[in-house]
Amino acid sequence: MNPYYSILTKAEDTGNLSAGEIKNLLDPPSSKEENELFKAADRVRQYYMGDEIWLRGIIEFSNKCSRNCIYCGLRAQNTKKWRYEMTVDEIVNTSKLIASLEIGTVVLQSGEYRSCPLEKLKTVIKRIKEIDLAITLSIGEYPRDIYRELKQAGADRFLLRHETADPDLYEELHPGYKIKDRINALKILKEEGYEVGCGFMVGLPGQTLDILAKDVLLCKDIEADMVGIGPFIPHPDTILKDEKQGDFQMTLRLLAAIRLVCRDVHLPATTAMATIDEFGREKAWQAGANVVMPTATPKPYRQAYELYPDKKCLEDSVEHCRGCLEMRILSVGRKVGIGQGGSYKKKKK
Ligand code: SAM
Ligand code: SF4
Repeated sequence: MNPYYSILTKAEDTGNLSAGEIKNLLDPPSSKEENELFKAADRVRQYYMGDEIWLRGIIEFSNKCSRNCIYCGLRAQNTKKWRYEMTVDEIVNTSKLIASLEIGTVVLQSGEYRSCPLEKLKTVIKRIKEIDLAITLSIGEYPRDIYRELKQAGADRFLLRHETADPDLYEELHPGYKIKDRINALKILKEEGYEVGCGFMVGLPGQTLDILAKDVLLCKDIEADMVGIGPFIPHPDTILKDEKQGDFQMTLRLLAAIRLVCRDVHLPATTAMATIDEFGREKAWQAGANVVMPTATPKPYRQAYELYPDKKCLEDSVEHCRGCLEMRILSVGRKVGIGQGGSYKKKKK
């Protein structure tokens, strides 16, 4: 048998691959094998996750950030940015709009504050919980007691991408920070009872296939409920501005590899994928993905939440995106998930 297909069969049947085998999977000899990779991931997605595609409405409630991740447009040292913070009422009213569109989850995302705006977030969470919405936080690294209080206030899930599994590359991208602390934060979040999402960028300068294979295995080790990946897109106000953007096909292959190895995780077709390929979301849904996260951040804030330039759908309202996404979901023979779409972990063996 073609050696690529024997690894692919093992991946589909068991999900148990070594780093070397994942590396091979990510490097198909031709587009024929690559298509087979996507089809196998699609079958595994169908078996574990069904045909629903879950919508998560994202509110980028603040672009204030005290960190300096060298790839990100929100980094503290980017003084060109107008910094904003939405009020409690603005966040709650936007959440009501999300619920009215039959979207069952709100994702509250922001830069990372020097000290967490704990009381404000607790108020927001409690008020959103009066509406029937699951709450995902994506606000960065904080100590255990902060995560605990936010959980007790009613938060359900937490997204904290590990960004890259390689310790040296992690430190280059995040001066002064270590991957072991990021992984420990993910462990703490799990212990505190959150459904947890990790993930990484594809195409970072200095990233190799060996590192990407480690990334996939780390997602499995963490036993993540969700994994968010997307291409790196250079931002003009960062020192990585002249670097190449991540490759779309490689990002798709990684999505497929994560589906094969991690099995029952929620996997979004990310906005970054849609930004670099017109049909990025559709292609992602056919290579293992089962989630999409339309932006509900109101104007003028959404324009100021610029992680990378030319973000897809920046001018479209969430009402418009809801309709557009439904059409796109139906166009690939799938259906919109109705409800909160929580973790599928261990639902099906
Ligand atoms: N501040 C929180 C954190 O870092 O976990 C949450 C928000 S952060 C902006 C969300 C994600 O955006 C990061 O985890 C990173 O992977 C992604 N991101 C930032 N800059 C990017 C870029 N230039 N290209 C692609 N993705 C980027
Ligand atoms: Fe801040 Fe998150 Fe951007 Fe890093 S990735 S600079 S923590 S917003």
